[in-house]
Amino acid sequence: MVLRRWKGTAVVSAVPSTDYHGTRSSNAPGASTWTPPPRRSWERRDVQALFDQPLLELVFQAASVHRAHHDPSRIQLCTLMNIKEGGCSEDCAYCSQSSRYDTHSKASKLEELDTVLEEARRAKANGSTRFCMGAAWREIGGRKRGFKRILDMVREIRGMGMEVCTTLGMLTPEQAQQLKEAGLSAYNHNLDTSREHYGKVITSRTYDDRLQTIENVRNAGIAVCSGGILGLGEKEEDRVGLIWEMSQLPEPPESFPVNALVAIEGTPMADQEPIKFQEMLRTVATARIVLPTSIVRLAAGRHMFSESEQAMLFLAGANAIFTGHRMLTTPTSSWDQDKAMLDRWGLSGMKSFETPRMAADQASCSASDAVRATSSEASAPSAASTTTTP
Ligand code: SF4
Repeated sequence: MVLRRWKGTAVVSAVPSTDYHGTRSSNAPGASTWTPPPRRSWERRDVQALFDQPLLELVFQAASVHRAHHDPSRIQLCTLMNIKEGGCSEDCAYCSQSSRYDTHSKASKLEELDTVLEEARRAKANGSTRFCMGAAWREIGGRKRGFKRILDMVREIRGMGMEVCTTLGMLTPEQAQQLKEAGLSAYNHNLDTSREHYGKVITSRTYDDRLQTIENVRNAGIAVCSGGILGLGEKEEDRVGLIWEMSQLPEPPESFPVNALVAIEGTPMADQEPIKFQEMLRTVATARIVLPTSIVRLAAGRHMFSESEQAMLFLAGANAIFTGHRMLTTPTSSWDQDKAMLDRWGLSGMKSFETPRMAADQASCSASDAVRATSSEASAPSAASTTTTP
């Protein structure tokens, strides 16, 4: 790491040197193998120093890191479907789906398999390569029939050739393993904000509960999607704290979603000021440098930023968007609008399993299918064994 002076302030240069993370070739787009990059040991003060730089200097560094690890012309289109809305027992102060607040969200039952598959087919036909499903639950708990239906959804959508992700609250190691076996590519479980600010937003589940679910997901071999929400009344050091927490995980998250709070009437956060674009940009750029191999995913609230602002976020390292017609409970732009936007900026959509992490996931999934097929052939009585026994 290089320390330089910028108008009298010490700043950290993050432009990759030749040994930046040491994994550039094995993790470059198109590489045939993928191994988790060694975690760089970030001190929180180093992340803060990056974050505090003059904004355009930070964006330039982030764009340079982005180009070293990703194809900057590719943006992943993902679609998120709410498969079970509202009635959640948790008290997340930003969420319209909590049963503790009087909001427009009403509790629904878990969607039927066919309805979800139809939506996934529609998403795929429109260019989305990752399909995410969210259920407003604290945890799956004892919902055996519902969980079985979700496993079927995962299996079927993976069979369509899409990356598939779920966000279902807290998971046990056994549930994570079942999701992995069904073909789940990624599991979303956000840390939301820094450890220090977290208690002002959520009291019904601890930061460590969240880290435990993330560990269960990682141990099952599922890619971790974990990020946060900006505009929760947090300070700049809380945005730094969130990114720093991600850098301390044993592996960087495969995906780091960045949400901008969409304040919803009836929630305790209803009167929060919208996050300023410069803060969003600063956070995305810092995340790109600290988490160089992660997909930085623009999530809820993207519609609040102009097209030019979104292009600036892509320049600073964001490389995925949610698109379709709706996030869980908030609006997003349509596939047609987003594809036209990408076209205007010379960008194009990613293919499924294009990143090295997802390519490895697909390879291991195909390999375990082959093993299952071989072992079921071996255990079934063959025509020869039933006809040639003396
Ligand atoms: S964010 Fe998730 S866990 Fe929190 S209240 Fe909303 S649905 Fe429940």
